[in-house]
Amino acid sequence: MSNIVVNEICNLRCPYCFASEFVNKQPKEMTMEDFKTALNFVLSDRSDRQVGLIGGEPCLYPHINEALRMALDDVRADPVMIYTNGVELEKIDPAILEDIKFRMLVNCNSPADMGQAKFDKMRENLLKFKNEHFGEGRFRLSVNLYKPDFDYTYIIPIVQELGFDTIRLSISVPSKATIGSMTALEYFDTMKPVAMAFVGDMIRCGCLTGFDCNFLPECVLTPEEHEGLQNVKDIFYSGLSKNYSRTFWQRAILCETHTCTPVIDILPDLNAIRCFGLSEYTKVPISHFRNMKDLRQFYIDNVDRQSLKYVSSPKCKGCYEGESGNCSGGCHIFKADQIFGGKNLELDEAHKNAHYEHNPDKLEEMKEHDHDHNCEHHHHHHDDDGPADIDGDGCGCGCC
Ligand code: SF4
Ligand code: SF4
Repeated sequence: MSNIVVNEICNLRCPYCFASEFVNKQPKEMTMEDFKTALNFVLSDRSDRQVGLIGGEPCLYPHINEALRMALDDVRADPVMIYTNGVELEKIDPAILEDIKFRMLVNCNSPADMGQAKFDKMRENLLKFKNEHFGEGRFRLSVNLYKPDFDYTYIIPIVQELGFDTIRLSISVPSKATIGSMTALEYFDTMKPVAMAFVGDMIRCGCLTGFDCNFLPECVLTPEEHEGLQNVKDIFYSGLSKNYSRTFWQRAILCETHTCTPVIDILPDLNAIRCFGLSEYTKVPISHFRNMKDLRQFYIDNVDRQSLKYVSSPKCKGCYEGESGNCSGGCHIFKADQIFGGKNLELDEAHKNAHYEHNPDKLEEMKEHDHDHNCEHHHHHHDDDGPADIDGDGCGCGCC
């Protein structure tokens, strides 16, 4: 799953916002030309068919309908997802909302954080999506637990009204200030009670919780808590195993995954980041990468593997889970100083000198105008070139 960050402007000011580095500072917006390049890059190999549009608030992107249509019409893409707060959903064409490949993850904030009027509008939009645009099964809610005393009770009536059987839960990646004052495990200890209470209350509403990244490390739970959750999970699994994917089950109720893999978000200026949590340190231009696989491997080598060398809390030293690579001790951001030394990642020699064109239109233009002039040394004929090489590797000259 990779995401295209189409804009940086947002209509809300969520206190936990992981995109706060970008949002509303000097909000940037992707041109349609660059959206095409980003989309093509995301789908550049068969590693992933799912495409996400994210912001800011993507519904406020002036080209949102054109961009969604382009993604939905691409046979390589399925599904196409937007990450939205749902307040401005009416900006999206009904035909798009009803497209079978269209999905929505709705970040459902509390009325206290977003204001009652916006909360009510979101709720109405979601009911409409479900009842008038046949949205059932094509959207999910997501809740950010961002403080130990977070009051999530607002979610219960909306979950019941919309009839959800799953909900995504995220223990927010903490701010720099929080990281500075406590270790990862101290942070998770403060967040455990609210996370456990949420999981329990959702189950009572008939709703399975699935953890988003920044996974709760296993050692944060006592053996009794672990066993209790495992028993509940076993009961649900025995009845519903076929209803949800393997990945969902791994993260459901009791999270069995304790380390993340690169998400890859492409920013409006066509720099990629490994994920929002690490946006400050992992910007690299996609034009230096042959395809998604190449970029993912770069992040694995330069972030994920490096992270294994360090611990996020003193207790992790010598821990088998950590040393075997099963547990990262929470989000890699807890180890940012050690991994990145306060700087952005640098490209290695191989990528520094590479350049790839990911927009098929630009390739066509180059073929039409420049190929004959610049590539006289080629022994094949222009007419025989066939379709544009979207990976841009061609013969190595960079223009075919
Ligand atoms: S490093 Fe991992 S846990 Fe942290 S924000 Fe990125 S994907 Fe999520
Ligand atoms: S590495 Fe071990 S001690 Fe550290 S958070 Fe993970 S399970 Fe806990």
